[in-house]
Amino acid sequence: MSVHGERIAFLRRELREHNYRYYILSAPSISDAEYDALLRELEQLEALSGEPVPLDSPTQTVGAPPSHTFTPREHGEPLLSLANAFTDEEVESFVRRLDESLPQAAIRFIIEPKIDGLAVNLRYERGELRMAATRGDGTTGEDVTDNIRTISGIPWHLQGGDVPEVLEVRGEVYMSKAAFADLNSRQDAEGAAPFANPRNAAAGSLRQLDARMTAKRKLAFFAYGAGIGGRQLASSQSALLAALAGYGFAVQQTGQAADVIGLLNFYRDLQQRRPDLAYEIDGVVYKLDDFSLQQQMGAVARSPRWAIAHKFPAEEVTTTVRDIIWQVGRTGVITPVADMEPVAVGGVIVSRATLHNVDEMARKQVYCGATVVVRRAGDVIPEVVTAFDIDADALMPEPPHLCPACGASVYRIEGEVAIRCSGGLACPAQLKERLSHFVSRGAMDIEGMGEKLLARLVDEGLLASIADIYEFDYHRLAGWTGMGEKKIANLQEAIEVSKTRPLARFLHALGIRHVGAATAAALASHFTELAAVVSADEEALLSVPDVGPEVAGSIRSFFAEEHNRVVIDRLLHAGVTPVAAQVVASDHPLAGKTIVLTGSFEAVNRRQAQERLRSFGARPAGSVSKLTDLVIAGEKAGSKLTKARELGIEVADEAQLLSWLEWSAPSLS
Ligand SMILES: [Zn+2]
Repeated sequence: MSVHGERIAFLRRELREHNYRYYILSAPSISDAEYDALLRELEQLEALSGEPVPLDSPTQTVGAPPSHTFTPREHGEPLLSLANAFTDEEVESFVRRLDESLPQAAIRFIIEPKIDGLAVNLRYERGELRMAATRGDGTTGEDVTDNIRTISGIPWHLQGGDVPEVLEVRGEVYMSKAAFADLNSRQDAEGAAPFANPRNAAAGSLRQLDARMTAKRKLAFFAYGAGIGGRQLASSQSALLAALAGYGFAVQQTGQAADVIGLLNFYRDLQQRRPDLAYEIDGVVYKLDDFSLQQQMGAVARSPRWAIAHKFPAEEVTTTVRDIIWQVGRTGVITPVADMEPVAVGGVIVSRATLHNVDEMARKQVYCGATVVVRRAGDVIPEVVTAFDIDADALMPEPPHLCPACGASVYRIEGEVAIRCSGGLACPAQLKERLSHFVSRGAMDIEGMGEKLLARLVDEGLLASIADIYEFDYHRLAGWTGMGEKKIANLQEAIEVSKTRPLARFLHALGIRHVGAATAAALASHFTELAAVVSADEEALLSVPDVGPEVAGSIRSFFAEEHNRVVIDRLLHAGVTPVAAQVVASDHPLAGKTIVLTGSFEAVNRRQAQERLRSFGARPAGSVSKLTDLVIAGEKAGSKLTKARELGIEVADEAQLLSWLEWSAPSLS
């Protein structure tokens, strides 16, 4: 080598690295002028040395070319693969074997979370990253050096001075949950197929032929072991991890234990915390900490006897869809559900998984016979993550036109993904919800008809519709626990009284979507009688204060549904006669008063109530002052209520608010 040999070698290495940063990473670490100066110096020295210039010298090439294939690379020391344990018993027998084989030793375990990623081997020479390869078959992997260099957690130069001549660092390349979600939403935006899970995404990203693609994927790395050079660094796994951290690698938080109980406690604790981790793990790894004890135990086939992976029950599995079922929720939302070949996932057998809504089902291309990935994590409802091997000729399922529970027509509100049953009053799937709303305080206010009683009446098939409330013979309840003669008489009385609730209450009780207490009151005072509301067209509805197109549409489709009209007819037939309201605004008790509504109300939308009171001539205000005439306080009213009390301002509650909203002027006749 010439006198300039060392400097030439240094410059070539530096320039290659800068080329790489510039062309592949688009992240140069020096200015163009500095780069040019280095390149010129190299040109001059190469000329001075008089030696032949190799073709791969930076003076002869421009940029780092993308690789075209992955070159096979043999690992210095093979990567072992861990035996798996799926049960506590398997962990116990692993520990027992060690105890029996090492009777004299004080056994100590180190416990590492098992990252669900891709194992790689990184070869450092004199502290410089020279080569990176995938695990492959454990002996030989694929060269992914360029791709590995794009991962920010992998140092190109090891930090600190004391570095073995050759060091193989082993660890896991992974993608965080956040980066994974980000990647899939970009895939989606570009119309590309989403990745099934972070592991697949990490694998696909690392094996990009063009390292610039890898750089965009935000991969990360945890170091957890060493091949060649490892034993020079440390005499135990915990000391090795500390040394690797000192070189600039990310390492995971680990645990320690001396016996089975300690191991299993860590396992269960981590299983609890698993959903909160920033990355996916699929179990824990128990290792004998002491390297000399590891050596005594040795390996059988390719698995070390001194370590075992204790896997969590799989949270994602593959199965086949047998059918698509349309499930009606208690609020009338109709959800597609996949009926699947039963499969164990997240520790239980699952045969149903939600598809969330029609759009999601179409996006994931789930159909009868599709092969799907099902996920069940923690207590979350099992869901279909994705379908794959999609048959282009398969018939995609169509959403139903009629509610599968009641046969009423199905509708979809513009801008919403949900499809809904329009047979609110007649749909058995929505019955309990409808009934308890119908009898509630802000609605028909039937005292004594509690949730428990309603649930039992429905479960025993005695109430199948809100109309049944007025047709049922309550003497049949005699003998039920808690239903004495007096109680039954009171209940019947309450039901009788409810027949003549104001029209506003009745409309509210019907549970029409978007029609709360205030809108119901506005409708009642505008139309004054039920028949007019039922037959109102869209134009008429839109002329009511605070009724917009969405509300009008909801009212129209409710009364257009034959099933609902039948129920209303039955109610009227049973003697329910909503009392008409005629309003003369200036006579309202709150006319001319400055009022403040605060806290949350059970039956009333605060904004709509303010609008309605304004229409009566009241002046709703946002804050309490000496000018405030009245504060109407709901649940959890805070500082405004306190201030009202300090100022001695009159305070009213929700019951009074309801009566003011329903207020009708004394008849003029
Ligand atoms: Zn229905």
